Amino acid sequence: MSRPLLMIPGPIEFSAEVLAAMGTPTLSHVDPAFIAVFGQVLADLRPVFQAGADYQPFVLAGSGTLAMDSAVANVVEPGDRVLVVDTGYFSQRMADICRRYGAEVELLTAAPGETISAEQVAAQCDQAHYDAITMTHVDTSTGVLTDVQGMAHSARQTGALVIVDGVCATAAEEMRQQEWGVDVYLTASQKAMGVPPGLALLMVSPTALAKWRQRQTPVPSYYSDWNMWLPVMEAYEGKRPAYFATPAVNLVMALAVSVRQILAEGMDAVFARHRLLSDAVKAGITAMGLGQVPTSPAHTAHTLTCPRYPQGVDASFLPRVRAAGAILAGGLHPQIKGEYFRIGHMGQVSRNDILATLAAIETGLRQAGYAVEPGISLAAAQAVLAAA
Ligand SMILES: *Cc1c(COP(=O)(O)O)cnc(C)c1O
Repeated sequence: MSRPLLMIPGPIEFSAEVLAAMGTPTLSHVDPAFIAVFGQVLADLRPVFQAGADYQPFVLAGSGTLAMDSAVANVVEPGDRVLVVDTGYFSQRMADICRRYGAEVELLTAAPGETISAEQVAAQCDQAHYDAITMTHVDTSTGVLTDVQGMAHSARQTGALVIVDGVCATAAEEMRQQEWGVDVYLTASQKAMGVPPGLALLMVSPTALAKWRQRQTPVPSYYSDWNMWLPVMEAYEGKRPAYFATPAVNLVMALAVSVRQILAEGMDAVFARHRLLSDAVKAGITAMGLGQVPTSPAHTAHTLTCPRYPQGVDASFLPRVRAAGAILAGGLHPQIKGEYFRIGHMGQVSRNDILATLAAIETGLRQAGYAVEPGISLAAAQAVLAAA
């Protein structure tokens, strides 16, 4: 069977066990067997986010954008001042959501491929008071990794609530929610969490829950309102039936399998594997003579790679790569969309997957008229893997 590998920044290739769970007969959402699985998933998410026992997980049916919406709808009130650290497409989406819920938004905007430092955040927070600060752990439109730990530290000292979009980072990039002082960490199922699209995941700190409880105004969204969801999450974790809106039963079954696989590997091992495979991909890209969008390895993500097209090549080369065995994504950042493409490598991705992907890129480039010595990227990637 020749099925191309799905190597985009989500959805990704899913493990056979996860896909098998998707295909099991659907249980009632109040079946004791399902309650047990859902309750365990909620508990298991705390070590994945490295959150404390008093942090509250939420698993909602919806995509990552719902997780962003739910975070903002609940902890941001009309008139709140929010600082958005803007490293690309998804940071701007976060700013739009904050404005929609009535916040006064200010952006600290990085040029495409650049990042914002903890010092810049500290300086900005010295000038003005912010109720909340948001940041994108990995901006999927540029491949930029932000310094969540440093920026959260700067923001926390001023009393601002820290909201982090981890959709392209959670369960891949190093992330320690409690230690780093992140109040709301959110993600989605279809990226490094390794489950088909359809679940929004949030982990909420006691500080953020307290801010939510002290709201002066009702949460303006009906479906996102934690007043609806908190009793349901508490009931499932307490092994009791509850209902507000039907959970995505099979996706939750699949999440249970994936979270178990992640925890069995161990979070530090998961972070290290993503770093290694990412280094191998990037070495291969460099060996082919291609640059990348992030301007420094110090702020380059390990969940995806954003190579710049070489002279004479454009997005029309992507179907050639697909025909050679790997599905890749085009550019996303509006300012540089036509200048680069994106390779996702997260979740259960293996050495074989990245070697096959590099080989397919070589083939596509040659067919597009760019001279690349056969195997040069594979040699570079294998050298990285062998040194580990
Ligand atoms: C994919 C992504 C989102 C949006 O998730 P959807 O599931 O497409 O709604 C948000 N933020 C980041 C960083 C992402 O990578």
